[in-house]
Amino acid sequence: MSEMRDRVLNSIELVCAKQGLRMTGQRRVIARVLCAAKDHPDVEEVHRRANEIDCRISLSTVYRTLKLFAYKGILERHDFGLGRGRYEEAARGHHDHLIDVESGRVIEFRNEAIEALQERIARELGFKLVGHRLELYGVRAKPAKKK
Ligand SMILES: [Zn+2]
Repeated sequence: MSEMRDRVLNSIELVCAKQGLRMTGQRRVIARVLCAAKDHPDVEEVHRRANEIDCRISLSTVYRTLKLFAYKGILERHDFGLGRGRYEEAARGHHDHLIDVESGRVIEFRNEAIEALQERIARELGFKLVGHRLELYGVRAKPAKKK
């Protein structure tokens, strides 16, 4: 990464600044890793990626920073039934997840019919929906045999 790019604040750093969170160099690196992530890394994976940029960042620093960012609503923490918390930038926009229980692969999707249905259910129960979490668990369907 060029120095020029390093000077530009990433989206997580901007939120942190707005919330008055003190940004150390290590926190900045962790923020950068999460901004660049297109997947849902767990603590160890974030640690591995952060170490490629700065090898002094410890696992416990990553752990504490992710916890703090999640607490502040900067990151979203998912469980996905995989036994470990997985993280993604909260500002990525709302979507739901399908988890391949065999490979652990996480697929993102958004379905307007589901969104509308959930709002309708809440409304029928006398609520205004302010959020939801939907996780689908599946195994890859075998291709149908040709006859
Ligand atoms: Zn996601």
